[in-house]
Amino acid sequence: MGAGPGDAGLLTLRGAELLKHADVVVCDVLVNPELLRLAPATAEIILRGNHKREGGLSQEELTEVMLRRAQDGKAVVRLKGGDPYVFGRGGEEAELLAAAKIHFEIVPGVSSVVAAASYAGIPLTHRDHCSSFTVFTGHSDSTDDAATALRYEQIAKIPGTKVVLMGMDNLADWTKSLIANGMAPNLPVAIVHRGTTGRQKTVAGTLATIAKLALENKILPPAITILGEVVKLRGKLNWFEQKPLFGQRIVITRRTGQAGSLAARLAELGADVLEVPTIKVTEPSERMALVDALLELNSYEWLVFTSANGVTAFFDLFFKQFKDLRDIGGVRIAAVGPATAARLRELHLQVDLMPEVYVGTKIAAAFKKYQNIENVKICLLRAEVASRDLPDALQELGAIVDDIPVYRTVAETEDHTGAAARLLEEGADWVTFTSSSTVEHFHARFDLPKLLKQFPRLKLASIGPETSKAIAKLGLKPQLEAKEHTTDGLVAALLKAAKA
Ligand code: SAH
Repeated sequence: MGAGPGDAGLLTLRGAELLKHADVVVCDVLVNPELLRLAPATAEIILRGNHKREGGLSQEELTEVMLRRAQDGKAVVRLKGGDPYVFGRGGEEAELLAAAKIHFEIVPGVSSVVAAASYAGIPLTHRDHCSSFTVFTGHSDSTDDAATALRYEQIAKIPGTKVVLMGMDNLADWTKSLIANGMAPNLPVAIVHRGTTGRQKTVAGTLATIAKLALENKILPPAITILGEVVKLRGKLNWFEQKPLFGQRIVITRRTGQAGSLAARLAELGADVLEVPTIKVTEPSERMALVDALLELNSYEWLVFTSANGVTAFFDLFFKQFKDLRDIGGVRIAAVGPATAARLRELHLQVDLMPEVYVGTKIAAAFKKYQNIENVKICLLRAEVASRDLPDALQELGAIVDDIPVYRTVAETEDHTGAAARLLEEGADWVTFTSSSTVEHFHARFDLPKLLKQFPRLKLASIGPETSKAIAKLGLKPQLEAKEHTTDGLVAALLKAAKA
């Protein structure tokens, strides 16, 4: 299966469909690890190793595992960067499958050949400039110098755009060779490193200067080189690198399910998003209180939800017990904050009362405005460890309060996508915190002050004062605090910082 060139959005629909049903995913280095989230959580993930990633397998070992799993009757997805049949050894692997009589399908992918060019603002053909393009590899695995020389002699004669894959380590050799064989030294040339990703880097020059420019700009593989007059169009058509957050790596620390929309918005704005969730939600350690509450839901006048997590957790357990939403009865519903209310509306439940902020006395005041809550039975459906402020404030007004834990947040320690490892290896520009608990858990996992020392360009972005307080407890100060304490507010603040 072709995984596309890097941008997760460039996977095909067929690819996404098959990933959803994979038992095993065998994955190459250049594949965007975010795609692994499309596979079932139970799928076995086998990674190709490289010099940095420990425990990964070699090409030969991967092929071996792929064959073995398939022979065991597993649905195996072999994910390869770009298109599997473009310099990806996909042909060789398919031959082995055919020889072993294993049923297979090839899912084409968007190749870096076209995608990195598009994202660098370079159309490979254009009626004013050329009507063909040629793709070749700059890598020479033959030790036969004569054959390599002949290849460049022939390539130099072909008209049209040329796209070169690999060959970064001998860039100076093959560009010289093309000039020696008659190509114009002032032919426009661009190199696109990690095209279509938030780490894309493009360097443009001429056939004569490009090797030196690549060296000066420390361009490493993976990169494609584009040769031709069309490179000049980049001046007009460079849409991707002009996105407002382009070039910034932003770490998201909130839970993956929640991170989705924030990650998508930041990626849309061109950021290189690393999702490093620090907490995950699990069932409460004590479930009896909830089971009891579910059995006597009708005895409550109010159900109070204080977070979207609480809504999801409660209804997951509710629907294990009941089949019909009507079993919730005629109870009224209060939701603290718009995100909580929105999650309830997804279930087509109307919210009777929506206090805006999670401050016990303010919530109690909102109730008081709505009705006299003396002797009114209220059920709070919250996280296991939550402050006493809210139940105390409601009891103060005479309410009878049951405080029921519906979920528990625990530290996330796994790194399915390798995002945490990349953060530790390469750093980032921003770490975003969306609650005090993300700060605490992130610090417990990565030692925030130490990380900042290691990567001096790293900055901290906080969603609001509570979160900033948690950062201050570590003796640090966020470079940015959102004016509006929502993810939209956080995105707006990051955009503003990028413009400054
Ligand atoms: N099957 C892949 C190519 C595999 S060969 C495809 O269709 O794209 C590996 C080479 O592909 C790299 O050395 C580099 O030249 C190119 N490449 C892959 N991904 C790239 C990317 N995101 N940006 C630039 N070049 C890339």
